[in-house]
Amino acid sequence: MLSTLPETIDPLHLADTRGELKGQLPVSNLDRLTEVLVDDSGSVQVDLFFGREGKIPKVEGNIKAALQLQCQNCLEAVEWSFDGNIKLGIVKTIEQANRLPEDFEPLMLEEEKILLKHFIEDELLLNLPAFPKHEHECFALEIKTNTNAQLVSEEAPSRENPFAILAKLKKTGES
Ligand SMILES: [Zn+2]
Repeated sequence: MLSTLPETIDPLHLADTRGELKGQLPVSNLDRLTEVLVDDSGSVQVDLFFGREGKIPKVEGNIKAALQLQCQNCLEAVEWSFDGNIKLGIVKTIEQANRLPEDFEPLMLEEEKILLKHFIEDELLLNLPAFPKHEHECFALEIKTNTNAQLVSEEAPSRENPFAILAKLKKTGES
């Protein structure tokens, strides 16, 4: 059974009432994130606590997910596990964000209520690896079966290295 999480949240109200949000969001609901995924199965485990630290409304907690990214070497799926703690100060302006203590990241509110999924999605998108790839050498295996790779290597000798051409030009210019 998936615990039901609200679709929209009012972070400041949750901070005032020391709200808690615990549950799972289906990965398939996170439409901006699924664009970079090979497969949108699974869910994101959300565990959040709202409150105040001094005067600062905040949300702290943990987000866990196992996402199917595309390996940038072999283009097959590669699982990326995320297990991250967050500590965000809830702010409405850039000035407020700049005043947050160093251990806070800002959660900028453009409106009173935000979509919970956007907020979770942002956290995951911020942490996505820039170059997801398998830990084993999947690319080396791929070359053997990849006909495109062969085409490139056959074509290569007929093309002169541009740096070699530059070097030649430079030489003739000097002489
Ligand atoms: Zn790979």
